[in-house]
Formats: sequence, structure tokens, C-alpha cells
Amino acid sequence: MRALSANDIVQVWEWGQDKHPVDRALALLALACPELAPEQLQSLTIGQRNSRLLALREKTLGPTLKGFAECAQCGTSLEFAVEVGAIRRPEPAAQAYSLQVDGLTLRFRPLNSLDLAAIVGLAEVGAARRCLIERCLLQATQDGQPLSAAELPESALAALVDALTEHDPQSETRFHLTCAACGHGWSTLFDIVSFFWTELDGRARRLLAEVHALARAYGWREADILAMSEARRHFYLESVG
Ligand SMILES: [Zn+2]
Repeated sequence: MRALSANDIVQVWEWGQDKHPVDRALALLALACPELAPEQLQSLTIGQRNSRLLALREKTLGPTLKGFAECAQCGTSLEFAVEVGAIRRPEPAAQAYSLQVDGLTLRFRPLNSLDLAAIVGLAEVGAARRCLIERCLLQATQDGQPLSAAELPESALAALVDALTEHDPQSETRFHLTCAACGHGWSTLFDIVSFFWTELDGRARRLLAEVHALARAYGWREADILAMSEARRHFYLESVG
């Protein structure tokens, strides 16, 4: 895996303006891992995808994730800083798993980007959940008799949804926050796709502003300015004033 260059960031930012987060995530990984075919990237589990995005974020912008969260108890806005290493979780150990619940045996596989893409158009949460369950359920049996996903009781569906996260832990990344003002503590969900994209959006806009300033001062081409090291670009920017 290689870090994103200044040119990569501007290119992917421009392309991703009107794209869904599922596609943005895959485009970032395609840039970082050119040795992997699109089908290989699409079939990574969501946890494997998120692990790679965390690694790419670390290589490109460093290991410390900084952001803001609002305390649900007192409303204070607090700044947090989390190390990538502190939220890294293991990857799935197998391609498929079995689950026993209420006399049923379920065999399933972890979710991947193709599954998430399949529910993009579904506005209703229940429909999206059913679609994901139908896709990841490989087999359901009761006393040796096969059952369809539609025949499964709610208790089995809930257990399956829990098992999906349990066996692909990086698919749902959480960390703990404590409010400095009131002491309230809570577990917050961390979405690396939207977090990293928001950072890259800021970075791309700053890069284009730098291109604008240097092109105006020196008449240099955009491609040449983006190909410079950050140190050299910033030296010229300081010289321009
Ligand atoms: Zn608080």
C-alpha cells in the first residue's frame, strides 16, 4: 500500500464529488493498492476494507485521528484525538461462519462492499436489513430441513446481525469518550469512510488554493505544483507571502 500523493487527493476528490461513500471507499483503495483488481477490492469484508482505509489514512495523514463530538448529557463540544492503533481490530479468521440459535443452524459470510452497494437505493431501514440478511445468509436449517431467510424468526435475525459484527469487528468501529465538563462517558461509532473523506475534502481544497497562489505568482502549471514535495511548495508559498 502506498500513501496518497497530492495529485491523487485532488483527482479522487474531483471524481468523488457526486459519488456514494461505498464507491469513494473503493476508489481510495484502488489508488492505494493498484496491485488488487476491482473484484478483489469489492469482495473485501467491510472490516477488511475499513482496516485498509485506516492504514491508508495513517500513511497519508499520520496516525492520530482528531475530531469533534457533542456530549449527549450537557451539550459541550469536545475535541478528541484517537490513535489508529487504538481502534484497530482483528480481521475475520474465516470466509464463512456458523451460528446456533433457537434450534436453528445458520451459515453466513461477512458483508462486503457489493452488499452495501445493493442497499444504496433502499430508503427503508427494514428493507435494507432484509436485503443484507438474504445476501449474507448461505444456509439456514432446522432439524435438517432448509429454511429461507423470510422464514427465520426475529430472534434468529437479531443474533445473525450481532454475529456479523462479532466476526468482522472492524466493520463497526467504536471508541470510548468521556466529557471533560460533566464526566458523562459513552461509546461512539467511528466511520472511517466519512471521516477520511471529510479530511481529504479539506486537504484537496487547500491544495487547490496553493496551486492558485503559486500559478498566479509564478505562472507554473497545476501538474508541476502538485508534483512538488510539501516542503518545497510551502517554501514558495512563504516566499510569495
Ligand atoms: Zn458533558
